[in-house]
Amino acid sequence: MEANPPLDSWIVRRILVLGSTGSIGVQALDVISRSPDLSVCGLACGTQIEVLRAQAVAHGVVHTTCAAGGGTLTASQDLGELIDATQPDVVLNGFVGAAGLAPTLAALERGIGVALANKESLVVGGEIVAKVRASTGAMLVPVDSEHSAIFQLLADIPPARVRTIVLTASGGPFRGRDTAALRDVRVAEALAHPTWSMGAKITIDSATMMNKGLEIIEAHHLFGVGYDQIQVVVHPQSLVHGMVRLDDGSVMSHLGPPDMRVPIGYALRWPDPPPENTPLPLAGMTLEFLEPDPTTFRCLALAVEAGRAGGTAPAVLNGANEVAVAAFLNDEIGFLDIAAVVAAALDEIPVGPGDELESVLEADRMSRDVALSQMRSLA
Ligand code: MG
Repeated sequence: MEANPPLDSWIVRRILVLGSTGSIGVQALDVISRSPDLSVCGLACGTQIEVLRAQAVAHGVVHTTCAAGGGTLTASQDLGELIDATQPDVVLNGFVGAAGLAPTLAALERGIGVALANKESLVVGGEIVAKVRASTGAMLVPVDSEHSAIFQLLADIPPARVRTIVLTASGGPFRGRDTAALRDVRVAEALAHPTWSMGAKITIDSATMMNKGLEIIEAHHLFGVGYDQIQVVVHPQSLVHGMVRLDDGSVMSHLGPPDMRVPIGYALRWPDPPPENTPLPLAGMTLEFLEPDPTTFRCLALAVEAGRAGGTAPAVLNGANEVAVAAFLNDEIGFLDIAAVVAAALDEIPVGPGDELESVLEADRMSRDVALSQMRSLA
């Protein structure tokens, strides 16, 4: 057994886990429970209160909140109170959807760093998040595997040498198919992701490639790069998580196992280094890189279009997609209808400025309304 380190170097980092009953939350609690330098100080979930209670008992946590707000941008007040009560060093935001924006802002406004698994915080509120961070200086460290990889690469590359950042996409279960072959795919097929184990919403987003579209917008805000400087390549093995193209034509890449506990552990400890882990085996590894197909996977093209339009357009894209994916998971619409619903919302709702919370919340609400009426016309 190792000797205890001196007391003054034994700092246990306090983590508030938001979305604790979801895929990211459960994996984060696994990371924390196996890390003597990390502890849980509070838990919050959307709806699964029984699971939350069991987690609170298992981790000895007193402070918990169940938002039960569905897909809306509510409960910011409760979460602000939870942050004040628990005084975390880091807030892990593992909420799903636009509902994660308010908690991200609540933490950053208090100067508390966020380990961000909720990409929608940046998709919907990227400009607002930037304003708050500029005023409080609070840190945002991505948990999304591609962004964690690029975050780590950029830390070691002089900015003047960076030409393009490259996000890898597994391509999901329907890689290589054409539009005709996607018309009748069922929920169970779309949920069968070949490489990653994730929640239902993001797994469907991976199958439509909306996830990669949202990640392009996330990268734009996170790394301050223009849309012309962000490239997507399909990489079925999910071992290269991110790449950076340099001025001399070379490419730096970050490889790791397709296991979310790695980027979660990195983000929770930043700026301290992650712990030793099993080395990634290289012998026998095959890496493929393919062009994406934004004609078949129309959500990818729609996301880039919304990102370039800026303002409230990404909030509209995201709101309609959340409604459409929920309907697809309920067998109410077909797989290709997801993109059709999102396209209709983007067509119908004019783009407004995206630098005020109220304007993006209004765009989110309008988008959900348009998506619902669009789906009624499909039925
Ligand atoms: Mg990702």
